[in-house]
Amino acid sequence: MEITNARLILPDAIERGSLSIRHGRIQKVSKDAKPAAKSKGDRMDLRGGFLAPGFVDLHIHGALGRDTMEARLDAFREITDFHLKGGTTSLTLTTLSASQQDILTTLDAIAPIHNQSLGGSRIVGVHVEGPFINKARAGAQNPDYCRNPSAKEWGPILKYGALITQMTLAPELPRANALIKALRKNGSIASAGHTDATEKELFPALKAGLNQSTHTFNAMSGLVKKGPYRMAGMLEFALAYDDISCELIADGQHVPPVLMRMLFNAKPRDQVVIITDATKGAGLKPGTKFEMYGIPARVTKTTAEVVDGRGLAGSTLTMIRAVQTAVEQAEVPLVDAVYMATLNPARQLGRDAEFGSLEKGKRADLVWFDNRYRVRGVWLDGELRHLA
Ligand SMILES: [Zn+2]
Repeated sequence: MEITNARLILPDAIERGSLSIRHGRIQKVSKDAKPAAKSKGDRMDLRGGFLAPGFVDLHIHGALGRDTMEARLDAFREITDFHLKGGTTSLTLTTLSASQQDILTTLDAIAPIHNQSLGGSRIVGVHVEGPFINKARAGAQNPDYCRNPSAKEWGPILKYGALITQMTLAPELPRANALIKALRKNGSIASAGHTDATEKELFPALKAGLNQSTHTFNAMSGLVKKGPYRMAGMLEFALAYDDISCELIADGQHVPPVLMRMLFNAKPRDQVVIITDATKGAGLKPGTKFEMYGIPARVTKTTAEVVDGRGLAGSTLTMIRAVQTAVEQAEVPLVDAVYMATLNPARQLGRDAEFGSLEKGKRADLVWFDNRYRVRGVWLDGELRHLA
């Protein structure tokens, strides 16, 4: 089939053109405004709407009152249906600091559907966020379940192999560097988050293979002063080192627009990964209460908060809103915001040859949206899964 009269969001530019799909893959990207005179099969005219690669979200806990930790297929289905409608075609379900048994039960439930779609976004892996994080930076995670890394615990998790695409950990904890090495050997992203680390602990972590920063700015250390001397925290370290890609919750709430701009100005565009960190509050009405593994939270007009008011509880974002916020509040060019929501996360997953941009041969994972960032259509492997 052919999709015509689109504004194609390519890696480096936005161009008028058309795109053809064959056997679920992108067959041709044409930058001319007019479609080929003859074309077999279906044709869809986007009337000048934007056509972007499907978004790739490395950090999703849930939506619509459902959470990854439920370890149930119907929960995964509702979560991925919801996020597909926000333009996300690939995502990694994200666990919380929990008992070892509950984490393994969740992994068991996801393993049979790895790289599959239950109708919504494709589940390309699991982001294990905690339990090896710092209690003092627990945020909305349950501090009772934050603990030091041990091979006895991470061994069974890494037995799931390629399913484990990412782990968020605090590099200052004992044995963290051995864990980072084990993660990278497994092909997983080693991401620092919920951390109080200083540069003293971060240099060895970087050497061990640390390659990402989880929800940059949120639940992490900053500059500290010891006597007359300053020392970088996780935030400054992430901004300073090219090997570290920075996740960003782009809702304008977790990180206000000024700090979002600071990140976009400090890091080259291929080192920022836009995420939602959506929790089960996503898609629910403001005022709705929910619980995150024992931590009570509620949905507000713009995000989600822990009920005692001491912090935010993940977001209520979809990826299209995150891209819109990056453009409208932090003044990032649309082409760059889309790049940070597609090709960068795909590259972090090691799967950029397969998806993440509008290029010949890649999976035809596509999102069509209009000038007001309303998602009009979403294709997964060339199949139209959502039309609004
Ligand atoms: Zn978190």
